[in-house]
Amino acid sequence: LMQLSVPLNFIGFIYREVRQGLTDIEQMFDLLDVAQEVQDKPGANALAVTDGAIRFNDVHFAYDPARPILKGISFEVPAGKTVAIVGPSGAGKSTISRLLFRFYDIQKGAITVDGQDIRDVTQESLRKVIGMVPQDTVLFNDTIAYNIRYGRMSAPEEEVERAAELAQISHFIKLLPDGYRSMVGERGLKLSGGEKQRVAIARTILKAPPILILDEATSALDTATEQEIQSALDIVSQGRTTLVIAHRLSTVIGADEIIVLKDGLIAERGTHRSLLGKKGLYASMWDRQREATEAEERLRQVREKD
Ligand code: ATP
Repeated sequence: LMQLSVPLNFIGFIYREVRQGLTDIEQMFDLLDVAQEVQDKPGANALAVTDGAIRFNDVHFAYDPARPILKGISFEVPAGKTVAIVGPSGAGKSTISRLLFRFYDIQKGAITVDGQDIRDVTQESLRKVIGMVPQDTVLFNDTIAYNIRYGRMSAPEEEVERAAELAQISHFIKLLPDGYRSMVGERGLKLSGGEKQRVAIARTILKAPPILILDEATSALDTATEQEIQSALDIVSQGRTTLVIAHRLSTVIGADEIIVLKDGLIAERGTHRSLLGKKGLYASMWDRQREATEAEERLRQVREKD
């Protein structure tokens, strides 16, 4: 029996690793939708990251040739800085993050990391240096400690706990019946959207990638949670080249540059303050968002009273 149970355990282990790996990627990018035609160039080298500067140079892209999504986008995320992409729904914000991961090849222009065209380096080396805090994190059916450690499997317990603290989730974990050993996921405790996002932030803190993509949650969070998440995100993005895909505007205020996408082009760009001063598309999006947030907050207060 012993002879049989060892390989079975091993198969179980492999199965779990593969399945969980897939869940992670799928949830980020709907891998099943992604065409698999992107291939490494023969003899491609590994990306050599010096400081993690990103550049999009006249990038043109369409999923379907009949419908261009990006029609010549140029911007730079200097090493260690934060650039936020905003714009109406469907403008192509998440597409930009997929292109940086090279899940698709662009039709014209170039995307470079530290001066190296991402088509010239191995996909594995490219994806290794990019950390992603996705919109919605699917948790594994395992302990909360495992879910955080997933960012770097070799991380010792103290580092897992430190990451949880930085991500502002440790307080919540300490109140759970089994602390860090509490089971989460579909068969365990269900975490809220904000809690799951903080687990994803803790993972990323452990992974410590030089480049970070924050795909901000579309769903509304209450103001207190949003502030907690914001301060966790500020910590994780410090000193890292960060691209924020902002579906809401709450995380963009402090960005070094905000890029406003519209109809496949950059309609406006600048800091929060300068864009508000322009009284253009960004300023009107900001006004609308603020009204919506205030309405949500009033509704919540009414509900809490009941
Ligand atoms: P939102 O804020 O609503 O998430 P977004 O700006 O992030 O929007 P994208 O997800 O980048 O928008 O999508 C841009 C456009 O590309 C949309 O019109 C979308 O329908 C289309 N699109 C996205 N993914 C695919 C795909 N795999 N195949 C074909 N079209 C796609």
